Amino acid sequence: MSDIRKSSIFYLEHLKSRGVKNVYKSKVKKEKEEQKETPKYKPFIEGLERPNENNKYSNLDEVKKELGDCARCGLHKLRTNIVFGEGNPKAQLMFVGEGPGQDEDESGRPFIGRAGQLLTKIIEAMNLKREDVYIANIVKCRPPGNRAPVDDEIIKCAPFLMSQISVIKPKVIVALGSPATCTLFNKKIKISEMRGKFYDWDYGIKLMPTFHPAYLLRNPKDKGLVWDDMKKVMSFLGIELPKTGG
Ligand code: SF4
Repeated sequence: MSDIRKSSIFYLEHLKSRGVKNVYKSKVKKEKEEQKETPKYKPFIEGLERPNENNKYSNLDEVKKELGDCARCGLHKLRTNIVFGEGNPKAQLMFVGEGPGQDEDESGRPFIGRAGQLLTKIIEAMNLKREDVYIANIVKCRPPGNRAPVDDEIIKCAPFLMSQISVIKPKVIVALGSPATCTLFNKKIKISEMRGKFYDWDYGIKLMPTFHPAYLLRNPKDKGLVWDDMKKVMSFLGIELPKTGG
């Protein structure tokens, strides 16, 4: 036993003999201990499922069948169509957004409105076609007024996206915007701080966060940043860089 420990015990025994019943830790020390235990990033959503290595699906049709005419969360009430996702089921590259908008809800197809048209341009600038990649969202029904999906909706719907990813097993996922990135990591992050770098994700997949095309429509000055990010993705996938683009 160390001398400090011995003298602390002796001192506490002495206080006890004098009728002292409680000894409180200093507030400063307690606060320091709490800070040490606080993780760098808070969980985005408590209880959000991670992808499961023992995933039971062997193809996307099985995932779609399990989803069915889904009413697992409140978003089913106002939807016209479920927007499951589309593209190459063996894609090396997958784009994940946050949720369908009005055009997508009406058509049942992801990213076909104004933001979607910009995403298509980005994909084509990467020397790819939409059919080469897979495009999906965190939630498959349109949140009213194009608001961000809330926790319960993500908890109910994101496992289907995780299953799609586990079937496709792309080499790279591009997470479009903050809600998609926060959901895929289940960490509360700032997209402006995380974009432009590869991160290790489940199944050995690399994840590249970048700005959402809807953000680029409002902030066209940042298109160059997204193009820089996509050039990194192209380089990783061995896709030849075009002489001009973006
Ligand atoms: S958003 Fe997802 S979980 Fe909610 S009703 Fe639509 S498909 Fe089902």
